[in-house]
Amino acid sequence: MKRLHEDTGEHHQLRRNLVDHLFKHGIEDRRVLNAIATIPRQYFMLPQDESVAYVDRAFPIGEGQTISQPYTVAYQSQLLDVEKGMKVLEIGTGSGYQAAVLAVMGADLYTIERQKKLFDRNRNFDYLRGFNNIHFYYGDGYEGLPADAPFDRILITAAAPQVPQPLVHQLARGGKLVLPLGEAPVQRMVRITKHHDDSITEETFDKFSFVPMLKGKQE
Ligand code: SAH
Repeated sequence: MKRLHEDTGEHHQLRRNLVDHLFKHGIEDRRVLNAIATIPRQYFMLPQDESVAYVDRAFPIGEGQTISQPYTVAYQSQLLDVEKGMKVLEIGTGSGYQAAVLAVMGADLYTIERQKKLFDRNRNFDYLRGFNNIHFYYGDGYEGLPADAPFDRILITAAAPQVPQPLVHQLARGGKLVLPLGEAPVQRMVRITKHHDDSITEETFDKFSFVPMLKGKQE
């Protein structure tokens, strides 16, 4: 797909406004705000929607999927508490925007998408190819990436009806898994921590509405 790669002073200003808006709504993690201030969200949108790239809403990206709302991306990224050099697994690459945010935050980012068309689109997306710390996989996120485990952080960006146990297994000691837990239409954001003695604790946060996490791959 052809993408317009224009990033003007006006876009920079719109990003600063978006960062102010997120800060006012409780996103205070500088690493997250810096990533959002850096990444041209318009690159990740369908061409007809580029003018609304900095509106704080989810938008369609084709294949029945959406690019998450900036507030949601920021909220999940903040809960994930990523430090430079951490090995992070994302489930649901979608537009690739969340992957870029985590990569700018310094993660060594592994991301899985179950839809072949979205996977191919991201692999050929020049802006994302510019990151040498993003690794794309086509597969079923319910299975994770056992060969690359353990991960310091795991982020699920689709609604999971239950906590996928293979992902808990693939979490390092001291690791955190953030996911929207529940069925449509509304989920609770949950953070699972695996402690150094392998015990697990669960914290519950605000309500969100994600597209469902589906089983298996799609051609
Ligand atoms: N992180 C994305 C959000 C995309 S929406 C962004 O920044 O744009 C959720 C994505 O999860 C969709 O692309 C959907 O196809 C994908 N998905 C759903 N179930 C999945 C699964 N089991 N494994 C991998 N990806 C999945």
